[in-house]
Amino acid sequence: MATAAAHSAAAAARTTMNVVIVGHVDHGKSTLVGRLLADTGVLGEGKLEKVKETCRRQGKTFEYAFLLDALEEEQGQGITIDAARVFFRTALRDYIIIDAPGHIEFLKNMVTGAARAEAAILLIDANEGVRENSRRHGYLLSMLGIRQVLVAVNKIDLVDWDRGVFERIVAEYRAFLGDVGIAPLHFIPISAREGAGVAERSGKLSWFEGPTILEAMDRLGKAAPSRDLPLRLPVQDVYKFNQRGDDRRIIAGRVESGSLKVGDRVLFSPSGKTATIQTIEVFSAPPRTEAVAGQSTGVTLDQQIYVTRGEVMSLASAPPLVSTKLRVNLFWLGREPMAPGKRYKLKLGTSATEVTIDQIHRVLDASNLDSSAGKQLVERHDVADLVLRTRQPVAFDTAADLEVTGRFVIVDGYDIAGGGIVREAVADELGQRRLERQLRDRDWVRGDITPERRAELNGHPASVVMITGEPGTGKCDLARELERLLVEAQHNAYLLNGKNVVLGVDADIDLDDIGELVRRFGEVVHLLCDAGLLVITTTNVIGLQEHRGVATQVAPFPTFVVHLGSEAEGLPESTDLRFDPNPDPATTAPLILRELAARHRLRAGFRP
Ligand code: GDP
Repeated sequence: MATAAAHSAAAAARTTMNVVIVGHVDHGKSTLVGRLLADTGVLGEGKLEKVKETCRRQGKTFEYAFLLDALEEEQGQGITIDAARVFFRTALRDYIIIDAPGHIEFLKNMVTGAARAEAAILLIDANEGVRENSRRHGYLLSMLGIRQVLVAVNKIDLVDWDRGVFERIVAEYRAFLGDVGIAPLHFIPISAREGAGVAERSGKLSWFEGPTILEAMDRLGKAAPSRDLPLRLPVQDVYKFNQRGDDRRIIAGRVESGSLKVGDRVLFSPSGKTATIQTIEVFSAPPRTEAVAGQSTGVTLDQQIYVTRGEVMSLASAPPLVSTKLRVNLFWLGREPMAPGKRYKLKLGTSATEVTIDQIHRVLDASNLDSSAGKQLVERHDVADLVLRTRQPVAFDTAADLEVTGRFVIVDGYDIAGGGIVREAVADELGQRRLERQLRDRDWVRGDITPERRAELNGHPASVVMITGEPGTGKCDLARELERLLVEAQHNAYLLNGKNVVLGVDADIDLDDIGELVRRFGEVVHLLCDAGLLVITTTNVIGLQEHRGVATQVAPFPTFVVHLGSEAEGLPESTDLRFDPNPDPATTAPLILRELAARHRLRAGFRP
């Protein structure tokens, strides 16, 4: 009994690891995989003998690679095998070997296919040494963010099991991989055909003290379970319940990392909208209270905010980066070179945005890492260090922080023409503020009272009402009326007159320094919000267009924008409500409050 229980506990604890295997054609990938299958005993009884016998009958020399073909023909034997993946198991765990064929035409599969791998085995032919493709594969793995790499130096039998040859290859390849940021865990001499160094040791390799391939694989570390990472749910779709009387919207997508639960405060990027999760819906199943990485799910929110496919839902406390400029490492596969000025599509998460090259830092030929200084085109199989510029802001992470949202592909027409990883966000016009905000928030020191608790005690959340409009449109009068009504109705509301910030906080700076003026103003608004206030203010001092900068700095505290001006003159971006210039404050203020109430920004019982 005890043994059975222990056994099933061990079975339950089994993990799966994805390993990509890469190597130049004919360097012995299939042979190595065939060996792994044969030597780990996953083949059915007598299978190996049967294939050997078939070869004998047909007068062919037996190859371990034939095992793969034979298995492909007979599915359902407990080993699943398809063109790109092989499954096998050791005592420790299950493996999925993803084949990234060494033939150059298949590099495309790597850009997308290797994306799932947690580790890689790079295969080199001892007889041929480091080849152009070996370098390219190393570069690719580094770009794809695969950090755990084993290098198998195969066909060591062909060089008489010679330690010197092995060590020369190690020296050469280690230096190369170091240049691209990969420090292999092990270099392992093997003969896949002879079965030396794969699952078993061989006397011929007695000079080698490191592990066999299998031992090294079982020592690979599991990446942190992605549910322990920050929440990222790229929005796939937003749809409405179609039951009568139910006007809720469901936001659907796959939890790519982290977890979410009912009551979580979430932020949508790049829009910066926030809400609280009300329910978690599962298709034709009872709602649940939690969803974790790997699950596709739908959520409803406590308020109807407008979000669309492509946005990334995160916890408000751990948002992704947002910018229109991304510094990337890109591997180009397109027949046509990637050229500045040309428009492509950037696919990242569920977003698809028009993208162009903003700046080329470096273009390298992936095979020899020859840098063509000043090269202004990215040609096929080049690796480039670029700044991309998207038409719309996108939400992403650096690949080093979070792989799922740190990788992208570039589509040219209908074809995937390149792929790569995000290295960093580059500040765009608003980005400087976003970045400053992120840095500020990361190290922000809090007392014991959370913003949620403060909102609970105040009876309403902190937020901003920003009144925009040309000079002389009646912004201040309206703001004063709003403050009066709100405070009289027991809200912690405060009218921040920009002039007061100028008089004090800005006393030491040149008033023409609009950037700094806006920054300081935004920081003051943010502090007031953090203190739990509903801040009412206007663009009088900072200028009409600068409200977005302030809203960016203040986020995730929401900003409600009321514009005073004619519709014909055009509305500032992200206007929520508009009135003609110089409206009557007594009748206009309640209309604004009604909108705020509908967004749950006022005390629950308050009916303006
Ligand atoms: P792939 O194209 O990388 O999948 O390479 P294969 O596994 O098909 O191997 C290519 C050739 O190399 C085959 O003829 C194998 O028998 C041979 N080969 C593979 N591993 C070894 C090895 O360790 N020693 C020798 N001598 N030949 C090998």
